[in-house]
Parts: sequence; C-alpha cells; structure tokens
Amino acid sequence: MLGYYGSYDVVVCGGGTSGVPAAIAAARAGAKTLLIERVGQLGGQMNFSGPPGFAYAFLFNGRGEQIIGGFAQETHKRLLEAGHALPHLRPKWRGQFTFSYVDPDWWGLLVYEMMKENNVELMLHTMVTDVILDGNVVKGVVTAHPSGKSIVLAKVVIDCTGEGEVSYLAGAEYDILPKDQLEPSTVAFTVDGVDWDKVLAYVKSNIDDFIFDQVLLPYNGMTVEDIKKEVLKAESILDIGEIMGFEKIRVKALETGEWHGNSGIGFFLMPKEGGRVLAHFQHSSHVGNADCTDVRDLTYVEVEARMQDIIAWKCIKKYLPGFENAYITRVCPEVRIRETRRIICDYVLTADDVVEARKFDDVIGKSSFPVGGKHAVGDRALTLEAVRLPKDGGSHDIPYRALVVKGLENLLVAGKAISTDRPSHHRFLQQTTVTGTAAGVAAAVAARRGVTPRALENDLKEVQEILIKQGAILYGTH
Ligand SMILES: Cc1cc2nc3c(=O)[nH]c(=O)nc-3n(C[C@H](O)[C@H](O)[C@H](O)COP(=O)(O)OP(=O)(O)OC[C@H]3O[C@@H](n4cnc5c(N)ncnc54)[C@H](O)[C@@H]3O)c2cc1C
Repeated sequence: MLGYYGSYDVVVCGGGTSGVPAAIAAARAGAKTLLIERVGQLGGQMNFSGPPGFAYAFLFNGRGEQIIGGFAQETHKRLLEAGHALPHLRPKWRGQFTFSYVDPDWWGLLVYEMMKENNVELMLHTMVTDVILDGNVVKGVVTAHPSGKSIVLAKVVIDCTGEGEVSYLAGAEYDILPKDQLEPSTVAFTVDGVDWDKVLAYVKSNIDDFIFDQVLLPYNGMTVEDIKKEVLKAESILDIGEIMGFEKIRVKALETGEWHGNSGIGFFLMPKEGGRVLAHFQHSSHVGNADCTDVRDLTYVEVEARMQDIIAWKCIKKYLPGFENAYITRVCPEVRIRETRRIICDYVLTADDVVEARKFDDVIGKSSFPVGGKHAVGDRALTLEAVRLPKDGGSHDIPYRALVVKGLENLLVAGKAISTDRPSHHRFLQQTTVTGTAAGVAAAVAARRGVTPRALENDLKEVQEILIKQGAILYGTH
C-alpha cells in the first residue's frame, strides 16, 4: 500500500556531503524542506562511508585566496571553536592542497544540531525508490521505509544521492565510463595508538620513499626536492598532513605476498580531542573493474574491499614503524564509491573550463581542484599524468546550469553526480558542499516564485545574493 507522507517546497534526496548543506540552505532561504536519507546517519562519505582523513581541502586557491566559504567554512569554524577541528593548514609547499581538518564524528553530531536550528524535517531510514512524474515534470518521490511505502510531494526535488540515483529513476541522461575504467572503491578504516614521533622520524630518514609530487602543484614554483626540504623541517606529523609512500616496505611486502598490490600504502590524519591524532586509511583497499550502480558488482566490492583491508592491516601493523601497538577503532560500515554516473544537465563542465579558470555569469561557487589525478588500481593510489590546475593558481566558477537536469523540470542535482566531463568530475567533498548549498537556495527560490529551477538560469541574481548572504564566495578571486 502506498501511503501519503507529506508535501514540501523542497525535498532533498540523500543526506551526504551535498544533501546536508542543500537542506540547510533551502530551509535558510525560507523553504519548507524535507531531507530523505537511506540510513540513520547524516553525512554520507563524510562520516558514514567515510570519513576522509581530512576535511576540508582546497578551500583556498594556489594564490592563497579563499574560494570556498559557506557551509564548509561555517562548520569548520564552529568545530574549531568547540575544539573539534584544527586551524587551516596551508604551507606554501602544498600549493592549492590546503587542509582544514575537522573531526568527522563531531561534524556528524553538529549537522543534526544544524537541522534542528533551521527546522529541516528529516525522514531517516528511508530509501527513495521512484520518482513521480507528470510528463517530464517531477512532482515528488516514492519512498520505502520500515512502515511501508509512501509518496512525498515536492515543488522541487534535489538529487544528492551521490550516484545520481533519483535523476536516473526520473529518466535523465547520464554518462558513465565502462567499468574497467571507473575509479576503484574503498572500505576505509581508522586506527589509534600510533607512535607519531616514530612515524615522523621514519618519514624524515626515508624521505625518498614518500610521494610528495601528488601535491606538487606548479603554482607554488617548487620542485620535489624543495618540498622534501620543507618536509624535513616538520616538527609534527600534522605539519605534513598526508603520508603516502613507504615504498621499500610496500615492495618487500609485495614480494613476500603480504601486500595485495591494488594500491599504495598511505593514510590521512584525523584530529581528536586533546590533541590526539588518528590515522585514516582510505586507499588501503582499492577495488576496480566494478560498476557500483550494479548490485552484483556493489556486493562484490563490499566483500573484496574487506579482504584487501585484512591484508593491508596485517602488513601495516607488522612493518610500518610506529604502528606496532596501533589498533583499528572503526571500519566504515559500507564501501565508499568514488565514481559512477555523471548526470547530464543544461551545461557540462569541461576540463578546459577548469584549466582556463573560466568564469560564468551563472556562477554559484568556485573550485581550484585540478582535472585528472584519478585513482586507479595499481602500485600507487593516484595516476598523476594528466593532472592540470586552473591557470595562474586561480579557480574556476561552477555554473548553475551544471545542476539543472537536462530534459526534466523541477529536478536539480548536486554533489559528485553533477554535470561534468570525466576529467573534471567534481567529486571532492568541499565541491559537493558548494553545489549542495547552491541547489538548496535555487530550489527554495524556484518554489517560492512558483517557477521551475530552469527558469532561474537567466535570472539568477536573487539566488546569487542569497548565496552570498549564506557565506558563499562568488566573486573577487582569480
Ligand atoms: C575512498 C574515497 C576517499 C575520498 N577522499 C576524499 C578526501 O580525502 N577529500 C575529499 O574532499 N573528498 C574525498 N572523497 C570524495 C568525497 O568524499 C565524495 O565525493 C563526496 O563526499 C560525495 O558527496 P555526495 O553528497 O555526492 O555523496 P555522499 O556523501 O555519498 O552522499 C549520498 C547520500 O545519499 C544517500 N542515498 C543514496 N541513495 C539514496 C536513496 N535512493 N534514497 C535515500 N538516500 C540515498 C546515501 O546514504 C548518502 O548518505 C573520497 C571519496 C572516496 C570514495
């Protein structure tokens, strides 16, 4: 039996890193907002299938200008004040690759507070299973939950499911690579009990074993050797931020069959109260040749990633200096998916737009993340050949049209499924907060005016003004 749940201005489907800010932004812009999430935990890749070792990165461009504010800035500031984040880490040698660490567990608690503060209604443990369509006009969604199935009506629906699931169900066009070319997926785990002095000493005395070129961003004008000199000056592991390499250990463990060979060895850092630091391994399983929109492949990935994690952890504990007494505090409850569908919208962001640091009249936010640099199964976590940055250490605009799903009315997409070509795939979480916020504000304005979000493409002034009031950075940077 299909019940009726309710009727809203804005329904956000998926409460991950784009859905959370989308719902808050829509509610702040005056919309009666419902956020529907498949599990009980809000946060998606931030703290359910994540967390990332760091959050957020790339809030600054290579010239040191802050280009991302809004939700990312607000949550970082609130957590910093509460002792659950670290100040922005932006040494020159990192170029654009700045870190703004927050404790993802506390982030996960804060966002529930923010839902209450802003009167966002939540519908948790609820799966969106279908879309209600009148021709090409989206009218709402069908949901499944412990008490059965119900319909939810909406003036505007925002697809924040990560995999573009709602857009797909609505019949949207999308792009996806053949599965042998998709980025691999990971079940991440976090460990405590690390002797960080020992790790730092090992890094410094084996500096050539570590990979710093992945953050060698040309704008900082430094060479790998310059960067190594800077790393040697580090007084704390937190000055380095991300540790990738342990090459001698990896090569030896491969020979003895103690490393699985699907990725490099490395980890990110996670701050905890009282200056405690945890290590977060988010590359130590890498399962490729799988399309995670196919349930058979998805199931295979969940199992295979855990098999790789078991091998990885045994190797880490046995061979990585400083990890002798470390222990796993958390294995993420589900796989973290890097890449599936990119939904086709009224504009497809291109690699040229990124590299040329292009500006658009319908700007809704910015990004300085490079094109390329995709994860692949193999010796190293990243393929670096095709990495290209926005020119002159700048950033590019994200156009609103890249969120307006082509051929359908009343449907916006935000997060990693927005409309881009493959090299410029916008999957980094700070980018997803930007597109989530913009979709939330645009949906609220469209709902209030009684127009479809597409009608705002040439009339975006009010949306942009509200975004700026909500802290977004739209103008005034390179
Ligand atoms: C292994 C890995 C490491 C990464 N590391 C970093 C990093 O270090 N830094 C960084 O910036 N980015 C990183 N990323 C990328 C980043 O975390 C994600 O791309 C980003 O968080 C995606 O945000 P999203 O909102 O699109 O999707 P998600 O955060 O995945 O949110 C989707 C939400 O929708 C819900 N959902 C899905 N389908 C339905 C449905 N039908 N009904 C209801 N709810 C549904 C899900 O439960 C989930 O909560 C990493 C990604 C991976 C895979």
